[in-house]
Amino acid sequence: MRAKVVHRVGLGTDLHRLEPGGPLRLGGVEVPADTHLAGHSDADVVLHALTDALLGAAGMPDIGERYPDTDPALKGADSRKLLAGVVDDIERAGFQVVNADLVIHAQRPKLSTFKPAIRAAIAEILRVDVGDVAVKAKTHEGVDAVGRCEAIACTAIVGLGAVGR
Ligand code: MG
Repeated sequence: MRAKVVHRVGLGTDLHRLEPGGPLRLGGVEVPADTHLAGHSDADVVLHALTDALLGAAGMPDIGERYPDTDPALKGADSRKLLAGVVDDIERAGFQVVNADLVIHAQRPKLSTFKPAIRAAIAEILRVDVGDVAVKAKTHEGVDAVGRCEAIACTAIVGLGAVGR
């Protein structure tokens, strides 16, 4: 009998407010900017969306339940560590990350030159090849909170695989 192959997808989104003073932390990378994202942790909106996508794909409780923003221990937390903890749990549950595809919604700064570093940082945490991580950046044409540079948002989708789970 053939082993059952399991393929699952997960979707995550997040948005954080921008405040004056850089640098900006996006996808585990420090991007030079005159603004930063506000939040209880390091407010890395890209890694938060990705973390939620992974949790969703694995059928686990979402990032707000797992890492409550009321937990004093998580104040200023490094989102790379939060994501790595979820990757560990997913692998322990018998899943492997297949790929991740992300869209960063930011009016500025221009992110094209930082996309390779963000891909590499994410691939390392997910323990996949750089080619399994895609990072896109979109402006919002000057409209809405993202377009007015009041916030940066991220949309992430991931694929998980498992054999004979
Ligand atoms: Mg967040």
